[in-house]
Formats: sequence, structure tokens, C-alpha cells
Amino acid sequence: MSTDVVVCGAGVGGLATAHALSALGLRVLVIEKQPSVRAVAKGEVFQPSALAALRTWGVEQRLLELGALGLHRIVVRDQCSEPMLSLDYRGLPGPDQDLLAHDYPTILTAMTDCLDFNVELRRGVLADELLRDETGRVVGVRVKEHGQVSDIHARLVVAADGVSSRLRRAASIEVRRLDYPHRLLCLELPASGEQPPDFSAYVTDRGMRLCYPLPGDRIRLYLQVAPDELRGLDEPALAAWCHTALHQVPALRQLIDRAVASLRHKQVLPVSRHIASRLTVPGLVLVGEAAHSVHPMAAQGMRTSVGDAVHLAAELARSGDLSLTEVDDTLLRYTERRTPELIHIGRMSHNATRMTTGTMWLGRWFGRRAARRTSANPQLLRAVTSNMSGIGARPLTTFDRLHQFGLVPHLGARGRTAQSNHQAHFSEQRKPNEI
Ligand SMILES: Cc1cc2nc3c(=O)[nH]c(=O)nc-3n(C[C@H](O)[C@H](O)[C@H](O)COP(=O)(O)OP(=O)(O)OC[C@H]3O[C@@H](n4cnc5c(N)ncnc54)[C@H](O)[C@@H]3O)c2cc1C
Repeated sequence: MSTDVVVCGAGVGGLATAHALSALGLRVLVIEKQPSVRAVAKGEVFQPSALAALRTWGVEQRLLELGALGLHRIVVRDQCSEPMLSLDYRGLPGPDQDLLAHDYPTILTAMTDCLDFNVELRRGVLADELLRDETGRVVGVRVKEHGQVSDIHARLVVAADGVSSRLRRAASIEVRRLDYPHRLLCLELPASGEQPPDFSAYVTDRGMRLCYPLPGDRIRLYLQVAPDELRGLDEPALAAWCHTALHQVPALRQLIDRAVASLRHKQVLPVSRHIASRLTVPGLVLVGEAAHSVHPMAAQGMRTSVGDAVHLAAELARSGDLSLTEVDDTLLRYTERRTPELIHIGRMSHNATRMTTGTMWLGRWFGRRAARRTSANPQLLRAVTSNMSGIGARPLTTFDRLHQFGLVPHLGARGRTAQSNHQAHFSEQRKPNEI
């Protein structure tokens, strides 16, 4: 069979690409190896910069119908809940001033519900190998479905098959994965009536504890753990560990019973970051985590995946036709424009991660200092808020970094509160979005 575009993987990256490319009038076939959406904890919080695209595709509305929550703030707090750094999105320029939160299966369901008529989604189909022509250009994929092998020819193959991408390997694109020296214990607390008001990262001497509300009065809780910390713990020992971890943060003590009760459904995840050595080869483009990943707690993965799709569609829209040469020229342009943005998002996410996850004395000291000094500096606070939200992003300068670490002073910040600083930032001129 043949189609204009075959998208391999129906996660956020693949579905976003299907939306963006079908809006250009292209015939898109999405293949997904899982027969149904799996109930796992993954991306749940969309940054504001993704919302315009989700709105255009009807997905924002669908998510709201399904109960998605809008959150205004990301707050880094100390162990006693005192805000060290508050990124308040209500001052962002433009209409999108909220994070949008729902669970990953519902996000995928909403994105699938809104697909256009010229998108076909086939589940239970594994993209196994790349098909190439005599020049070596990628011209399709060989797939497996119920043990049967067949070929799908396409002008463009989109590898949206996630962090361990088989197609990336088949295209001989290298990645260097950098592991963080910790894992995340992930818990979903059932409805209780009381919910945290925002996305709060508590910085403790044993690592970060992250907490935010989910629809249905549920709460998502992530606890940072050292790689071997939970090894060999039986049920009571694990419950005791969880009790101690939450007891350390007074604001989270009320969650202890529910957290312990939800331990039997826990996920423990290794965390890493990467960026592929290249985003495209002739006939094939990597999107989403096939191309890049950051620490999950930076909450940047989904908006970046949506951004890949939007940027790819914008480049394709600029092309005159869908001839193979035109597609390949488009892929080169896409690589050239998208790569610096991905490097920026990767660096910014890594810095945010270091600020909150250091457990050694020096790392913690630097992290806290950087958070507090960012909070006290209007320009810096605005830049960091913009960078995290993806709206009006501005990479930090060397001067900004020096100031964050207290190596140069910022006289203008003296005497201002974090709130007045924030208002001062956002009264300035609007900058373009980066998603
Ligand atoms: C614990 C956790 C929490 C996170 N929280 C956030 C958050 O709050 N906000 C945020 O923005 N990001 C978050 N992220 C990151 C976010 O989940 C990812 O960036 C996003 O899911 C990437 O989407 P994707 O489509 O590239 O990959 P995936 O979601 O992994 O989708 C890839 C799809 O491809 C399919 N597939 C794989 N191989 C094949 C094949 N050979 N053939 C066919 N199909 C295949 C898979 O089954 C899967 O459905 C989090 C990640 C984790 C792990």
C-alpha cells in the first residue's frame, strides 16, 4: 500500500504530527504497535505554548470536555513549603496563561478523537524496518501485524516511536543518552476532596518531591529516589520509606496514608536526556522522544513534540509540492531551524532539573541560591518563566547565569518582592513563541 506520510507511533509526537500534516491536505497513515492505549504515567502537563496548536486541532476543547485542569503556576518550594521560585503564567503575554493537565491515556484519547478524516490510525501494527530505494533514500516501512509482514510506501516516514526508537536505529542515527543519578517513584493518589492548587516541586535534602492535581480529584506525586534506595524493600519497608519521604515535607504529610495505599500501583522510572545526532535522513524525520528527551519533571516533552509537528508542517507548507526532492529539501530546512531550539529546550530543562534535584550539599546550595536569585531579578524571572512556558522564549546569557550563581550583582532587583518583579517583567514587550 502507499500513502503520502506514514507516522510510526501514536504517542503525543505521532498524533500531533498526524494533526499538523493532515491539515495540509496530506493523506496520513499512523501505525501503533500497541493494540490499545496503555494506562501508564507519562506526559500529563502541557505548557502554554502547545495550546494554540491543540486548539486549532480541536484537542484543547476535547480535553476540557474530558475534565482537563488549568494550572497557573509552577512553584519551587523548600521543605517547609516556602516558595523559592514561583513561575506565574498569568502574566504571560497572549491568551495562553495556563498549564493544561490530564493523564496521558486521556490526552492520547483526546488527540485521537479529533483526528481528521484523511488520517487513518491502525493499532497493533509494528514498524519493523525501513524500506529504501536504490539511492538509499527511505521510501517506506516494513510492518508486522498479527505475524504478517507487509510494506507501506510513503513520500515521508515519520519516526515517532519514542525514546528507544527502532526506526532511529534502522536509520543509523546515533544518540548519546545521559542518565540522571536518580530515579522517580511515581504514584497516583485517588480522589480525596482536597487537591494541591499548583504544580509544586519541593526541594529536600533527599531529593525533589513533586505534586500536582489531576482531574477527578486525583493527585500525581513523584518522589526522587537514589538508584538502589528501594532495592530489596518489602511492602512494609517500602511503606516506611514512603512515610519518611513525605513526613519530611509538612505540606505533604496529609497525603501519607493515600500514598502508602497507592504503592501497589507504583512505577519506578529511570530518567535520562538525549538529543539525536541528526533529526532527519532523506525520506525520514524523527519527532518527539525519538529525537529528544529531557527530564520528565521539566514538563517540556509534550510541548516540544507538538512543536516538532507544527514546525515540520510549516516547512512542508512552504514547499511547492510533495516530490521526493522537495520533501528532502524541506527536511534539511527543518533540521536547520529546529536543532537550535531543541538544544535550547534541552539546556534549559537540564538547568531546571539541576536546580531541584541535587542531593549533594554543594548541588543543593547552588540550586537553592539559583532559585532565590532568579526570583529576585525581574528580567531573569521573566526569561525563566518564558522559557519554561515556551511563550516568548529567551535563552539565558552568560551574565544571567553568573547572576543566578551570585557571581555578579543585580542592583535593580533590590527591594522588590517576587510578585512585583513578576508584574514588571510581563509589562514588557511580547516576544515570539517557541514550541
Ligand atoms: C514519568 C513521565 C512524566 C512525564 N511528564 C511530562 C509532563 O508532565 N509534561 C510533558 O510535557 N512531558 C512529560 N513527559 C514526557 C512526555 O511523556 C514525552 O515527551 C512524550 O510522551 C513524547 O511523546 P512521543 O510520542 O515522542 O513518545 P511516546 O509517548 O513514547 O510514544 C511513542 C509511541 O510509539 C509506539 N511505538 C514504539 N515503537 C513502535 C514501533 N516500532 N512501531 C509502531 N509503534 C511504535 C509506542 O507504543 C508509543 O505509543 C513525561 C515523561 C515521563 C516518562
